[in-house]
Amino acid sequence: MTHDAELERMTVDAVEKFLESEVRPYAHALEKDDIYPAEIVEKMKAMGLFGCIIDPEYGGLGLSVSTYATLIERMSAVWMSISGIINSHLIMAWAVQRNGTEAQKRAYLPRFATGELRGGIGLTEPDCGTDLQAIRTVAQRDGDDYVINGAKTWITNSMYGNTIALLVKTDPTATPRHKGMSLFIAEKGPGFKVTRKLEKLGYRGIDTCELQFEDYRVPADRLIGGVEGKGLKHVLNGLELGRINVAARGAGVAREALREAVMYSQQRKTFGKPICEHQAIALLLGEMATRCEASTLLVQSAARAFDRGERCDMEAGMAKFFATESAMSNALDSMRIHGGYGYSKDFNIERLYRDAPLLLIGEGTNEMQRLIIARQLVERNPA
Ligand SMILES: Cc1cc2nc3c(=O)[nH]c(=O)nc-3n(C[C@H](O)[C@H](O)[C@H](O)COP(=O)(O)OP(=O)(O)OC[C@H]3O[C@@H](n4cnc5c(N)ncnc54)[C@H](O)[C@@H]3O)c2cc1C
Repeated sequence: MTHDAELERMTVDAVEKFLESEVRPYAHALEKDDIYPAEIVEKMKAMGLFGCIIDPEYGGLGLSVSTYATLIERMSAVWMSISGIINSHLIMAWAVQRNGTEAQKRAYLPRFATGELRGGIGLTEPDCGTDLQAIRTVAQRDGDDYVINGAKTWITNSMYGNTIALLVKTDPTATPRHKGMSLFIAEKGPGFKVTRKLEKLGYRGIDTCELQFEDYRVPADRLIGGVEGKGLKHVLNGLELGRINVAARGAGVAREALREAVMYSQQRKTFGKPICEHQAIALLLGEMATRCEASTLLVQSAARAFDRGERCDMEAGMAKFFATESAMSNALDSMRIHGGYGYSKDFNIERLYRDAPLLLIGEGTNEMQRLIIARQLVERNPA
């Protein structure tokens, strides 16, 4: 084992121990009451998780994306919301690491790595999510600053976090539309308002909010990369990473739903035998386990392509689509196996069942993933 591989293995072991001792015992109660896991977040900071894929040169752990995906899978099996706290934060950090100027990297990455500055990505608006080029938030140059006006919605980590990567139009009249889009490092300050925390079906405990920008001033040196018009490109680079994250979450939720079903089906007896011995239940378990295995393999295959620096939108799209649909199917099948108890708030299954649908939507809906896969198939295989 190389030194790096050993370090990565040790990090996975440490995170697994942390999840079992510091997260699993508290997740159910925190989720039920939608309480932000502040103490858990402090411990995640201390473990360096906010910088896990940030380059060591800038204070991060420098883990590979394939190890990061393993961490996310493990976290999501225990409590998916915990993974969300670092996922969108790291997409913001990745945008700076990959596209930022050297001065931006030196100023921000070390503070992202410690979690001193932390947050997520501000893309979605009340009138658009998939069609990002339709955003209406505008940044206008004014001396050494830009003045930003507009609204965002569904922004995760925006209440307890303090910084977001904010997608705006610097030229709302540009054609094609993406040439007028730019991405800023936006720290909270006057005019940056969190107007409402949204109530959600699942993915509770973590803050997802509506934001309003009213003459919010951001210094011009916070424009990522220092050049206007590159914002959509920066976001799309980051979304490949985001899709691998979401796929890993799906693999984690799918695996936890299976684990609970394997345990429960050995304990619950009907007609004189454990229900796992009824063929109808065994068939479900067989399908669920196969989905888990295939999900993890797809996630790892996409993550390794990402680590090699290859274009992997098709691979990330396949992993995201399959693993998240698997999470949904396994959560439902596990609920069936649990009978009435699966519907009870005392059991974890109903949480997995409420968490899973988000994965079908976030980081590009699964409808879009299939379109991306098809487009890539044609592009890579010209007739
Ligand atoms: C809990 C939660 C957390 C979130 N966190 C964040 C965050 O941190 N930051 C952020 O910026 N956003 C966040 N989002 C928003 C999320 O990224 C969007 O909801 C998502 O991109 C979909 O956009 P939309 O909701 O506007 O749906 P729409 O774009 O309106 O889509 C509606 C439906 O139409 C389909 N559709 C749209 N266009 C096409 C097309 N061309 N072809 C086929 N089908 C199409 C979609 O697949 C979907 O089924 C979050 C959302 C949720 C629910």
